[in-house]
Amino acid sequence: MTISEAEIAQVRSATDIVALITEYVALKKAGRRWQGLCPFHAEKSPSFSVNAEEGRYYCFGCRVSGDQITFIREMQHLDFVEAVRVLADRAGIELHEDDSSGPARKERQEFLAAMDRAVEWYHERLLNSPDARPARDYLRSRGVSGEVARQFHLGWAPDDWDALSTSLKFSEKVLEGTGLGFVNKRGRRQDSLRARLIFPIFDSANKAIAVGGRILPGAPENPDGYREAKYKNSPETPIYSKRRTLYGLNWAKDDIIKSGEIIVCEGYTDVIACFQAGLPRAVATCGTALGEEHFRTMRNFAKRIVLAYDADSAGQSAAASVYQWERQHEVDVFVARLPKGSDPAELAQRDPSALVDAVATAVPFLQFRLDRVLDAANLSTAEGRARNAEAALRVLAEHPSDLVRDQYLLKVADALRLDLATLRPRVSELVRNPQAREPVAERPVQPRVSEPLPRPGLEALRLSLHFPHDVKDRFIAEYFVNDVQRGIFQGLRTGQSVSEVVDHLRRQGEDAAADVLSELAVDELDREYTVDDVTAVVAQLLRAAVTQQMRDIERELRSSEITPDVANATVRDVKERLELLDTPQGASAEADLRAWLLSRSGSSE
Ligand SMILES: [Zn+2]
Repeated sequence: MTISEAEIAQVRSATDIVALITEYVALKKAGRRWQGLCPFHAEKSPSFSVNAEEGRYYCFGCRVSGDQITFIREMQHLDFVEAVRVLADRAGIELHEDDSSGPARKERQEFLAAMDRAVEWYHERLLNSPDARPARDYLRSRGVSGEVARQFHLGWAPDDWDALSTSLKFSEKVLEGTGLGFVNKRGRRQDSLRARLIFPIFDSANKAIAVGGRILPGAPENPDGYREAKYKNSPETPIYSKRRTLYGLNWAKDDIIKSGEIIVCEGYTDVIACFQAGLPRAVATCGTALGEEHFRTMRNFAKRIVLAYDADSAGQSAAASVYQWERQHEVDVFVARLPKGSDPAELAQRDPSALVDAVATAVPFLQFRLDRVLDAANLSTAEGRARNAEAALRVLAEHPSDLVRDQYLLKVADALRLDLATLRPRVSELVRNPQAREPVAERPVQPRVSEPLPRPGLEALRLSLHFPHDVKDRFIAEYFVNDVQRGIFQGLRTGQSVSEVVDHLRRQGEDAAADVLSELAVDELDREYTVDDVTAVVAQLLRAAVTQQMRDIERELRSSEITPDVANATVRDVKERLELLDTPQGASAEADLRAWLLSRSGSSE
């Protein structure tokens, strides 16, 4: 548990405080000091000052102060000993502690070293191995040269079960701890990624912490007939936290600081495309939606955040959260207006200067949302203008600042040729009473997204989204006990694209469902699904749906809609079949329960 004073002093003197803090905050030289925006409180002008010689920092705004160790403690939420260990690792100093938590640190070190070797191995394969030719051809066709592949350390995971595991001879612990592989049902080591282009993910200090893998277009289906997810990322591990990580930040940091701007994309290839187009300040989230922790990181580097998403995804960003983050972290969120159907990677290849323009002329998030409504406006009839005004005012009412709302209200009045005096009270009403934002009053109140949704339902939706053909006949609407989830499932059933379903749900005022679906659509699958997994999900859904019906039967019994013997017989029957679900007779039990649920809902399939 204890580290000697001498070693602590050694760690301090080996850690250049300016270099350390620059991993988190942009610092500029000001006389003998270094200055930057304080990472501990939100501010627009720099009051955070670092003294390199003394190894100390101080903030004139919030008055925090400290040295290398306190800084890393605060930034990474560590205790003293952990912070010293992090800095010792960073400086390559070996501590002589007599403790019990040493192993966890050793393990982290071991995982980082393994990830580093794996990234090099994948990279080497891409550059030199004959079997990586299709990957190299694909990259070339997308305008990615060998030089760029080297810059981003791209790699190739061969089409083999265990090429990485056997070549690098990783232990089971390392394979599973890094997410690079696992031990399969036959007790053999297996790689997590095969036949995929590898995008290594680094932390802001340039250490490889995870990998993302993309299948090549036209890749064959895997043997059990499942279409694989296009992207597959490392799972969360002791060295990798998705919600904290921004892909590309390690390369983009310098230009972000210089330009005061950070470009946020949806995919690895978008980031690379931005760099190639002359915008070396792009990052991407790693298989999660942009969230609180990302903003916490970004605000330390730049105040102008430009979302470079395709138009539909940008429109679906949760407005309330974006405004909250803008306020809380004192940043401004802009949206680059990309041509409909384009993402940065596609646009950069076709017309790089158009991408640069789109970023330079990005509009504030609220304006982007308003424009979407106004661009679709039908100005030829009074009814059309009124309808669009209502939609625009609803968008406007989401913004928390009345000063901002008022400025945009003028634009709306102008664009729709309506009187400001009639619009203003309606906005105030919508702001005061968010319920009135629901377009139709009779609709039952939708559950809020923040309520946890049943997990099997989410799992089923994820499967329906990513493997629509494989699971087509396994799920029915009656399996979903949650209204939001049932609504999404029915939407997906129509065979429309996700964006169309989202738009439809929004038009119906089902924003909660639209939000959940938008999030699911960017959510990546962490693993492959087998037939057994689907069966397990069906069983869980059935249990929940049957339980709900049991409650209804109780109610029917109380109100004498059915007699006790009918109720008892039904309950006995159903329970018997539930018990059979995990046995060899599972399939017929599933079919019986499904038929029973359908008969209860009165629908015929
Ligand atoms: Zn401060």
